[in-house]
Amino acid sequence: MGLLNRYYAVIDTLPDHMFLFSETGCYLDVYGGDDNKTGFDCKPFIGKYLHDVMPRHLADDFLSHIKNAINLRETQSVKYKFDEDEMIELPNHVVVPKEIWFEGIIKHLPIVENGERVALWIAKNITQQHYLELELKTLSEIDELTGILNRRAFSNTLKTYVQAYPYSGEPFSLIMYDIDLFKRVNDTLGHTVGDEVIQHVVKVFRSELDGQVSFGRIGGEEFAILLPHKNIQGAYELAERLRQRLEKSPCETELYEIDVTVSMGVTQVNKDDQDTLALISRADKAMYQAKKEGRNRTCKYSNSSEREYTQFNQCNWFKKK
Ligand code: GH3
Ligand code: MG
Ligand code: MG
Repeated sequence: MGLLNRYYAVIDTLPDHMFLFSETGCYLDVYGGDDNKTGFDCKPFIGKYLHDVMPRHLADDFLSHIKNAINLRETQSVKYKFDEDEMIELPNHVVVPKEIWFEGIIKHLPIVENGERVALWIAKNITQQHYLELELKTLSEIDELTGILNRRAFSNTLKTYVQAYPYSGEPFSLIMYDIDLFKRVNDTLGHTVGDEVIQHVVKVFRSELDGQVSFGRIGGEEFAILLPHKNIQGAYELAERLRQRLEKSPCETELYEIDVTVSMGVTQVNKDDQDTLALISRADKAMYQAKKEGRNRTCKYSNSSEREYTQFNQCNWFKKK
């Protein structure tokens, strides 16, 4: 076997696809790709252009990476997918995969063909890895009991909004609420029933909230709702709607029907909010005021929330340093 044949045999056995592109997006050659599981070796593409075999915007995008690799002499790395709607041209016998993810590494090659510079595009099928990453991301952001954001993910979302506010000037509001007299549910009916009550509250509220809001469980039976584009009055009205809805929707478990209420505090972002703490603290104080005023109500943050809270903290088991 000649040396060249041996090189070809080796290169075609490589698991990732390797495409040789001219700087105008012509497929000069295709090698390997055993592991890419498209069942298609892409060899019929040789001599065709990117724009001949895939949707225009994908081809434009691919070509820009090739040009960058060649012009900047810098290796490019991109993640992309083909799916049922946006697919390369496949022969009829190839079953179109639902969704297939690739990582592309694009390198300039020190050769010229037909007067054009050349890039090598290595395509690795990362579909499995992509889904694993998605799963891990979900696991790290979602509260297991309720399916809404956990504290960390909610805080991150809130932080993004607080940081953007000085530039966007777009108001947003925060609702915090805590289930009323929840300990007695646990103490009387047991922890499992307590868990069902927590799930029930989330379910009732979720059915009233649209996809724009962020909803998080920030403590055992404490929750927060971030309302983009809403001022404090809008947030108050929504909170009241949620609260009243829950008041009329007892939690039905196998053995019990349990009345559940919540106390809610509402505040709006303001220009002095440097971080999430100030915002959370105001919503928390308003929520405390709602507890103090008799529970099962919503309070907007105001000076009186501050007063109630200060009075509450006048105790002697700790002091401020
Ligand atoms: P208040 O109206 O003042 O809020 O009274 P409360 O009894 O609800 O008091 P508090 O909010 O302090 O009660 C929190 C209780 O929630 C204490 C804790 O045992 C319980 N808890 C926290 N996380 C969970 C959970 O995941 N499941 C269950 N079942 N209980 C929880
Ligand atoms: Mg409570
Ligand atoms: Mg609590």
